[in-house]
Amino acid sequence: MKVITAKSAGFCFGVERAVSTVYEALESGEKIYTYGPIIHNESVIQELTDRGVGIISSPEELEDLGEATVIIRSHGVSKEIYDIMDRKGIRYIDATCPFVLKIHKLVREASERGEHIVVAGDRTHPEVEGIVSFAENGVTVLKDEQEAMDFVPPEGKKLFLVSQTTFNSNTFKKIVEIFNKTLYAYNTVYTICNATALRQQETEELAKKVDAMIVIGGAHSSNTRKLYDIASASCDNTIFVQTLDDLVSSNQSDCNPASCVGITAGASTPNNIIEEVQNYVRRFWTDVG
Ligand code: SF4
Repeated sequence: MKVITAKSAGFCFGVERAVSTVYEALESGEKIYTYGPIIHNESVIQELTDRGVGIISSPEELEDLGEATVIIRSHGVSKEIYDIMDRKGIRYIDATCPFVLKIHKLVREASERGEHIVVAGDRTHPEVEGIVSFAENGVTVLKDEQEAMDFVPPEGKKLFLVSQTTFNSNTFKKIVEIFNKTLYAYNTVYTICNATALRQQETEELAKKVDAMIVIGGAHSSNTRKLYDIASASCDNTIFVQTLDDLVSSNQSDCNPASCVGITAGASTPNNIIEEVQNYVRRFWTDVG
């Protein structure tokens, strides 16, 4: 059986950097907390929990924090969180991905120019919550083309359009087309990060040429969900697993047997999980080629 693993599968630069930051900080012997889980991967989180890393889940918990260092994950946090840490003199290491920090800066500057911010993304995602918090002159989040078509801009305001770094690039292009057709006065900066665009493109190309696709990633990982959507649009036999155990325990009769299997993984999937899945498929799935 042919098994093709996408070159872009697994940790991206920003996630790699954030996870390494936590491991390095542990060396200091101080009590370490991350603001939210450092990545959407249960096995990594469990390992860090076992090593004493705590997770802060709300501004209230941050307010009550004693002596400790807080690490901000790659998604970033909202302005409110920075404000609390500054006010309380909490020591923190900012592992926000530079691509996300760039969006915070763009949004802050556009707000200062009086523009209304439009963010293409998932309004419940922590990255978007963070981006939105830097918009001080009005902000709208659009999750898809339908919301872009229904959007009525505030009168007399220029718009400034950005997107969540993991937004679907095709959907973003469609939103831009809608803005162009409606003749809105707007500026835009393309803020989908290369890692995401490349991963999405490679997933689409791979899904078109295989009999079955396996998408690996955390259940709460938005970038992995998007990979699943892209893969299943081109390959009916697409499955989503978090770990090898998921693959083994689930009934995969729709996908197995196959003659050519593609594997991709979200940005928070460690290499060892990808390798385990890849080796298992090579060994146990039936080749019908
Ligand atoms: S997906 Fe892109 S923006 Fe997000 S953490 Fe990774 S490199 Fe940074």
